Amino acid sequence: MNIILLGPPGAGKGTQAHFLVEDRGMIQLSTGDMLREAKDSGTEMGKKVAEVMARGDLVTDDIVIGLIREKLEGENASGFIFDGFPRTLAQADALDTLLSETGETLDAVIEMRVDDEALVSRITARSTCGGCGEVYNDITKPWPEDGKCANCGSTDIKRRADDNEESLRQRLMEYYKKTSPLIGYYYAKGKLRSVDGLGEIDEVKAAIADALA
Ligand code: AMP
Repeated sequence: MNIILLGPPGAGKGTQAHFLVEDRGMIQLSTGDMLREAKDSGTEMGKKVAEVMARGDLVTDDIVIGLIREKLEGENASGFIFDGFPRTLAQADALDTLLSETGETLDAVIEMRVDDEALVSRITARSTCGGCGEVYNDITKPWPEDGKCANCGSTDIKRRADDNEESLRQRLMEYYKKTSPLIGYYYAKGKLRSVDGLGEIDEVKAAIADALA
């Protein structure tokens, strides 16, 4: 099964993608993670995208489509979770083509609905574990007091450079201008399932399981 998790920054796509990886053995393809890796590795492409990401703008379609193409050609999985991709109609069309080239299909698009005020507070309180990617929140799920990730024991707490209020406003603007039209696009294709992303993590997880059943 191949699915897309669609929603604004902070909707919980990464958190829910982790569950799907653990429970179903699917492979998470997060273009945000791939771009952060490129940024950290200091390649030419990484340097180019770093500023764009820090501002909260979208990286060009060519770059992200290229990253996804490489992964699809290299991996053999029981299903892909596209997390943060596609973000434009051009990317959605490219994904269609890439999947059909490898004989795959897109089974469902899960739209995670969350109101904007909740996003701002979620994102500005967010940290992730550098060891395993576990997501924490200063208020609802703080780092364990011993400083070690509850999942993997790492002490590497990471906060994203673009998880500040100014970049977030721009990321939201990009979402509404360029990504939200994909909701109608996938509805028209009969692929869209919408879930309430505001509930407790386990409630959202159950809603996604229902939507995929
Ligand atoms: P994310 O981790 O999904 O929130 O993505 C972080 C940042 O990476 C975004 O704000 C964009 O600058 C960039 N990015 C991630 N995925 C894409 C994509 N599919 N298209 C364009 N830019 C992307």
